Amino acid sequence: MADGLSGLGEFEIIGLFRQAAEPGRRWVVRGIGDDCAVLDVGGKERLLVTTDMLVERVHFLRDGITPRQLGYKSLSVNLSDIAAMGGEPTAAFLAWGLTADLDLAFVTGFRDGLLQCAREHRVDLLGGDTTASKSDIIACLSVLGRAEAGEVITRFGARPGDVVMLGGMVGDSGAGLHLALRKSGEVSAADRRRLLSAHLEPRPQVELGRLLAKRRLATAMIDVSDGVLQDLYHVVTASGVGADLDADALPLSDAARALAKSAGVDARDWGLSGGEDYVLLFCVPQDREAETLAACQSELGLRVVPVGRVTQKKHIRVRRNGTWGEMHIEGYDHFKRQE
Ligand SMILES: [Mg+2]
Repeated sequence: MADGLSGLGEFEIIGLFRQAAEPGRRWVVRGIGDDCAVLDVGGKERLLVTTDMLVERVHFLRDGITPRQLGYKSLSVNLSDIAAMGGEPTAAFLAWGLTADLDLAFVTGFRDGLLQCAREHRVDLLGGDTTASKSDIIACLSVLGRAEAGEVITRFGARPGDVVMLGGMVGDSGAGLHLALRKSGEVSAADRRRLLSAHLEPRPQVELGRLLAKRRLATAMIDVSDGVLQDLYHVVTASGVGADLDADALPLSDAARALAKSAGVDARDWGLSGGEDYVLLFCVPQDREAETLAACQSELGLRVVPVGRVTQKKHIRVRRNGTWGEMHIEGYDHFKRQE
């Protein structure tokens, strides 16, 4: 299937459905094209719905992740999409395909990881579907969440002048993947654990999303699943704006920098296009930047980092080593980059 679709990207395929789908019924506040769909369920409440799938050999290798980590990650990447809307996750459903050679330890390990993530975010697992798969493990989670109408943060509200911020370090997951694929470069055992954990057990920023939503601080938001460039591109195209991104300001961990130096690569590239960091990328009006920095620090002990500015001109400019250049958008695309 991938060969036949290789000329077509993930986002083009989604577009084919988006164009053909009927206009939303009156309870559809937001349909295809954001981190979650948003439904009006009456009163002030909005229902958020998202689904995300992990497929063996596309998203993970069986000998590169433990069953427990796989269970944890399959839920956490979905919670990240709820976080990206400013929502509070509530319930999860697991649909998965299992190959005949798996054993009981795989199932209980996966269950324990998934339920650990669920407990951490007070989410209930309420059902699903279990089926056989011929050759690859597939785990698809669907997650529901809630928010008040005025709290929901979409990708569509960024305005020229807004400050672009990141909720935490980027590039650790890309560095972790670099290690998992046994590419060149050496780091300490502690750094290695940190980077692999970022890749295998990402922590969704649910509390940060809620804080920004409750205080109405962000005009637009997304979680960094495809890389800062690609995800910023989603926000600016949805909002009809552009952005200046300062790659020199990207928050990179010492561990990622150490590995990059040893491997002879630029750690910024892991942040820009590595993806799977699952930190929030959000836009804040300039006059609320200081308030945002202070609230994240005092309430969550979290240092959020300004990395750019929303512009009127509809393209993304990236500053690297002090020089501005227009940037080709290159994030992870499941059909176009299969290696
Ligand atoms: Mg997302």
